[in-house]
Amino acid sequence: MEHGRSKKIYEEAKKYIPGGVNSPVRAFKSVGLDPVFIESGKGSRVLDADGNSYIDFVCSWGPLILGHSPEYIYDGIEEIIRKGTSFGLPTETEVKMARLICEALPGMDMVRMVNSGTEATMSALRLARAYTGRDKIIKFEGCYHGHCDSLLVKAGSGALTLGVPTTPGVPQDVIKDTIVCRYNDTSSVEAAFSENAGGIAAVIVEPVAGNMGVVPPREGFLESLREITKRHGAILIFDEVITGFRLSYGSAQGLFKVEPDITCLGKIIGGGLPVGAYGGKREIMSMVSPLGSVYQAGTLSGNPLAMHMGMKTLEYLRDNPQVYGSIEDNAVRLEAGLNAIIDELSIDACVTRAKGMVCLFLGKGPMESHDDVIRCDTARYASYFREMLERGVIIPPAQFEGWFLSYAHTREDIEYAIKASRESLEIAF
Ligand code: PLP
Repeated sequence: MEHGRSKKIYEEAKKYIPGGVNSPVRAFKSVGLDPVFIESGKGSRVLDADGNSYIDFVCSWGPLILGHSPEYIYDGIEEIIRKGTSFGLPTETEVKMARLICEALPGMDMVRMVNSGTEATMSALRLARAYTGRDKIIKFEGCYHGHCDSLLVKAGSGALTLGVPTTPGVPQDVIKDTIVCRYNDTSSVEAAFSENAGGIAAVIVEPVAGNMGVVPPREGFLESLREITKRHGAILIFDEVITGFRLSYGSAQGLFKVEPDITCLGKIIGGGLPVGAYGGKREIMSMVSPLGSVYQAGTLSGNPLAMHMGMKTLEYLRDNPQVYGSIEDNAVRLEAGLNAIIDELSIDACVTRAKGMVCLFLGKGPMESHDDVIRCDTARYASYFREMLERGVIIPPAQFEGWFLSYAHTREDIEYAIKASRESLEIAF
């Protein structure tokens, strides 16, 4: 596969952009390649600057549940743009969007739109601290909640992949109130609450961890978090930036039937444009300015174009419930195909899956915590990635990320990805 044009753009990019990219994992550093620069996307495929076509399982890291540039979402978009792209004054689309989200999520009475998942989690923490009058928060090892200072402690995603789970530049004073517990380990949470009696404002968790690969919650884990936080008067925050509208239309909270006090959203609700949101119980959200005194604002928050794209996406998901079944069918097929390869080649690897979220770990399972996943063979994963790319399949360029399946992926795409995986894994092992 030729990458001459991508390489040329990359050389230019490195002159002006740190590492040549605007988000670290895009640089393909951990898989030992130069990045490919993308020209366009349609359905399940993207086309790079050299004209190579790939089946895409990154899908912009989650937002594109309907695939690339779906006509039924893009319909009428020119008209929306021509009406104006930002006013700094409210529009009716924001209200429609807020209503859609509140009607879909059991734990959401009111919602505030922001511009990214990071803004959502950062604002949710501020609100939880103001509501409880406490400072400490609990997060879980390997969970990633964006690049907000106090949450970049033992973080997953690119931070884990690039070996900077706790980044320089964050003052000790800022993270002294961040307590890190083990995912899927209720006793570590109980212990933190007894050691910090009356001091913990909130527990923030990815209901299915999607930033250390895909690690589903053990049965009863989320229920325990709900019970413990309630008992201690702390706020339970579900970071559903990945799982929101992905696991089901009611998101993880609808699927697992556990209602958090605050939910953070992003990715899918922007339909491919920059959006985030946080919301929850009316009593808590009533503290947000200007209704209450907890300040949070944004020049482009509730941007008309982003709201339109998000609203169209959510309406489509609401009105076409078969989307979830179809994605899950393909995910089950992918899981089975990868498991068959693992058996056939007798390799130390395992597949995890939560509905349409799938991960192939190159390490012995089960994968239930950060300690389990970090034992994976990242060098072998890099080789697997390179071989897949050469065969026209883009999987996450990092072991600690999940594959994102979309409604646009066909059965043939899945079968091709399984076949390419067989060849690639044979080479990698
Ligand atoms: N929370 C989770 C669970 C995420 O996966 C991410 C990003 O991947 C974020 C928060 C941060 O979102 P953003 O990158 O939009 O700031």
